[in-house]
Amino acid sequence: NNGLMRGKRGLIMGVANNRSLAWGIAKAAHEAGAELAFTFQGDALRKRVEPLAAELDALVIGHCDVTSGETIDAVFARLREEWGELDFLVHAIAFSEKNELDGRYVDTTEANFARTMQISCYSLTAIAQRAERLMTNGGSILTLTYYGAEKVMPHYNVMGVAKAALEASVRYLAVDLGPKGIRVNAISAGPIKTLAASGIGDFRYILKWNEYNAPLRRTVSIEDVGHSAVYLLSDMGRSVTGEVHHVDAGYHVVGMKAVDAPDI
Ligand code: NAD
Repeated sequence: NNGLMRGKRGLIMGVANNRSLAWGIAKAAHEAGAELAFTFQGDALRKRVEPLAAELDALVIGHCDVTSGETIDAVFARLREEWGELDFLVHAIAFSEKNELDGRYVDTTEANFARTMQISCYSLTAIAQRAERLMTNGGSILTLTYYGAEKVMPHYNVMGVAKAALEASVRYLAVDLGPKGIRVNAISAGPIKTLAASGIGDFRYILKWNEYNAPLRRTVSIEDVGHSAVYLLSDMGRSVTGEVHHVDAGYHVVGMKAVDAPDI
């Protein structure tokens, strides 16, 4: 326990299992001394989240499906009862239909475009609206994004468009909430094999490509993401807001495939 987050209370949204990026962040925040609460999406995930929360002596605050404003309200009402205030929040939520995370972006349907934007982008704003009222002593909000927001990545398609909008939301929210001492940032994580990532076409190929071409010649882990998140969530990052911080072994700076990359 490095004590960097001692005395801070945070809500973690987006744990599906022990491979989730949100879990990596939760573990690192707990190690740093933070007190945590978790939401889960539906009963199937409740069974996974409860034992994980118990490992970190965390509260399981309730079901939250971000397509239902009522469930978001219920979570924040309960948080107000339990804690009265909130210091940080992790938003690690995204969704798109699997059949559109393959093939061409141009074939995206209107219905899946709207749903992907609602769950993967608007939900950050919906949650920030509620968090603002509980972050009476300032706070730190963190979301997760991916390089597919900046450059075209194979199969990422409509999710790339949603992540671009999410990154813009981070900047707008940072400006709106900054005067209250609330910071809003994103971590742009390199590819990691999770439940959500398994929906993306050719994901194993993308992992290998990153391993061969990232400056550090490796992929990143949920623990790596967690440690960088502690910097943004704790007072170590107190002057950082509106930022998209890459935790990707440097992949985003590379303009050309490494010459020694074997055929993959
Ligand atoms: P994951 O499957 O473990 O987590 C995704 C979470 O989103 C799940 O907990 C799920 O319950 C939640 N979710 C989906 N729809 C929801 C809804 N309607 N209401 C509430 N929750 C909902 O996968 P992950 O890879 O850990 O994803 C977390 C975040 O990290 C996502 O924003 C993802 O885009 C981002 N990210 C992932 C990678 C990667 O390679 N895995 C890279 C960069 C960014």
